[in-house]
Amino acid sequence: MHEYSIACEIFDTVMATAEKNKAAAVNAITLEIGGLTHVNPEQLMFCLDVLSRNSIAEGAKVNVNFVPPSGECECGYRGDAGVPDKLRDEDHPSLYEYAIQTCPVCGKQLQLVDGDELMIRTIDIEI
Ligand SMILES: [Zn+2]
Repeated sequence: MHEYSIACEIFDTVMATAEKNKAAAVNAITLEIGGLTHVNPEQLMFCLDVLSRNSIAEGAKVNVNFVPPSGECECGYRGDAGVPDKLRDEDHPSLYEYAIQTCPVCGKQLQLVDGDELMIRTIDIEI
Protein backbone atom coordinates (compact mmCIF):
# COMPACT_ATOMS: atom_id res chain seq x y z
CA MET A 1 0.00 0.00 0.00
CA HIS A 2 1.30 3.41 -1.09
CA GLU A 3 0.15 5.16 2.08
CA TYR A 4 1.85 2.62 4.32
CA SER A 5 5.35 3.28 2.98
CA ILE A 6 4.79 7.04 3.23
CA ALA A 7 3.53 6.62 6.79
CA CYS A 8 6.68 4.62 7.63
CA GLU A 9 8.88 7.42 6.34
CA ILE A 10 6.96 10.05 8.28
CA PHE A 11 7.01 7.93 11.41
CA ASP A 12 10.79 7.37 11.12
CA THR A 13 11.38 11.11 10.75
CA VAL A 14 9.12 11.92 13.68
CA MET A 15 10.81 9.36 15.91
CA ALA A 16 14.30 10.49 14.90
CA THR A 17 13.39 14.11 15.66
CA ALA A 18 11.80 13.14 18.96
CA GLU A 19 14.87 11.14 19.95
CA LYS A 20 17.26 13.92 19.00
CA ASN A 21 15.31 16.30 21.24
CA LYS A 22 14.99 13.72 24.01
CA ALA A 23 11.21 13.97 23.84
CA ALA A 24 9.04 12.18 26.37
CA ALA A 25 6.06 12.19 24.04
CA VAL A 26 4.92 13.35 20.63
CA ASN A 27 1.75 15.43 20.97
CA ALA A 28 0.99 16.38 17.40
CA ILE A 29 2.29 16.15 13.86
CA THR A 30 1.32 18.55 11.10
CA LEU A 31 1.70 17.31 7.54
CA GLU A 32 1.53 19.27 4.35
CA ILE A 33 0.20 17.35 1.39
CA GLY A 34 0.24 18.76 -2.12
CA GLY A 35 -3.02 18.48 -4.02
CA LEU A 36 -1.35 16.37 -6.68
CA THR A 37 -0.05 13.67 -4.39
CA HIS A 38 -2.24 10.63 -4.69
CA VAL A 39 -2.41 10.08 -1.00
CA ASN A 40 -5.53 9.18 0.87
CA PRO A 41 -5.26 11.13 4.16
CA GLU A 42 -7.57 8.76 6.04
CA GLN A 43 -5.43 5.79 5.08
CA LEU A 44 -2.26 7.69 5.87
CA MET A 45 -3.54 8.63 9.32
CA PHE A 46 -4.67 5.08 9.95
CA CYS A 47 -1.20 3.76 9.07
CA LEU A 48 0.46 6.34 11.32
CA ASP A 49 -1.86 5.35 14.13
CA VAL A 50 -0.91 1.69 13.75
CA LEU A 51 2.81 2.46 13.50
CA SER A 52 2.84 4.70 16.56
CA ARG A 53 1.24 2.16 18.87
CA ASN A 54 3.45 1.41 21.86
CA SER A 55 5.78 4.26 20.94
CA ILE A 56 6.06 7.74 22.44
CA ALA A 57 4.05 8.97 19.47
CA GLU A 58 1.03 6.88 20.39
CA GLY A 59 -2.12 8.99 20.34
CA ALA A 60 -0.39 11.95 18.68
CA LYS A 61 -2.79 14.22 16.82
CA VAL A 62 -2.12 14.25 13.09
CA ASN A 63 -3.10 17.43 11.24
CA VAL A 64 -3.15 17.48 7.47
CA ASN A 65 -2.90 20.68 5.44
CA PHE A 66 -3.66 20.46 1.74
CA VAL A 67 -1.64 22.66 -0.58
CA PRO A 68 -3.35 23.44 -3.88
CA PRO A 69 -1.16 23.16 -6.99
CA SER A 70 -0.18 26.28 -8.92
CA GLY A 71 -0.53 26.66 -12.65
CA GLU A 72 1.82 28.46 -14.98
CA CYS A 73 1.09 29.62 -18.52
CA GLU A 74 3.34 30.63 -21.40
CA CYS A 75 1.62 34.04 -21.44
CA GLY A 76 3.11 34.71 -18.01
CA TYR A 77 0.06 33.98 -15.89
CA ARG A 78 0.78 32.16 -12.70
CA GLY A 79 -1.73 31.32 -10.05
CA ASP A 80 -3.61 28.78 -8.06
CA ALA A 81 -4.58 26.00 -10.42
CA GLY A 82 -7.36 25.18 -8.01
CA VAL A 83 -10.03 22.71 -8.81
CA PRO A 84 -12.63 23.12 -11.55
CA ASP A 85 -16.03 24.02 -10.07
CA LYS A 86 -17.74 20.76 -10.91
CA LEU A 87 -15.04 18.86 -9.05
CA ARG A 88 -14.95 21.04 -5.99
CA ASP A 89 -16.91 18.59 -3.88
CA GLU A 90 -14.55 15.74 -4.50
CA ASP A 91 -11.88 15.24 -1.93
CA HIS A 92 -9.19 13.92 -4.16
CA PRO A 93 -9.22 15.22 -7.70
CA SER A 94 -6.83 13.37 -9.92
CA LEU A 95 -3.88 14.69 -11.86
CA TYR A 96 -5.96 14.55 -15.03
CA GLU A 97 -8.69 16.69 -13.50
CA TYR A 98 -6.14 19.32 -12.59
CA ALA A 99 -4.43 19.04 -15.96
CA ILE A 100 -7.53 20.15 -17.86
CA GLN A 101 -7.33 23.55 -16.16
CA THR A 102 -6.87 26.39 -18.60
CA CYS A 103 -5.37 29.84 -18.27
CA PRO A 104 -7.96 32.47 -17.26
CA VAL A 105 -6.04 35.09 -19.29
CA CYS A 106 -5.45 33.45 -22.66
CA GLY A 107 -7.26 30.12 -22.44
CA LYS A 108 -4.24 27.90 -23.06
CA GLN A 109 -3.63 24.85 -20.92
CA LEU A 110 -1.83 25.54 -17.66
CA GLN A 111 1.39 23.79 -16.77
CA LEU A 112 1.18 22.56 -13.21
CA VAL A 113 3.89 23.48 -10.77
CA ASP A 114 4.11 22.50 -7.12
CA GLY A 115 1.43 20.45 -5.46
CA ASP A 116 3.14 17.06 -5.57
CA GLU A 117 4.98 17.27 -2.31
CA LEU A 118 4.37 15.71 1.05
CA MET A 119 6.28 17.07 3.98
CA ILE A 120 6.22 17.29 7.73
CA ARG A 121 5.53 20.89 8.70
CA THR A 122 5.74 20.66 12.47
CA ILE A 123 6.29 18.06 15.15
CA ASP A 124 4.97 19.01 18.56
CA ILE A 125 6.84 17.17 21.29
CA GLU A 126 6.82 17.06 25.06
CA ILE A 127 10.16 17.01 26.79
ZN1 LIG B 1 -2.14 32.26 -20.51
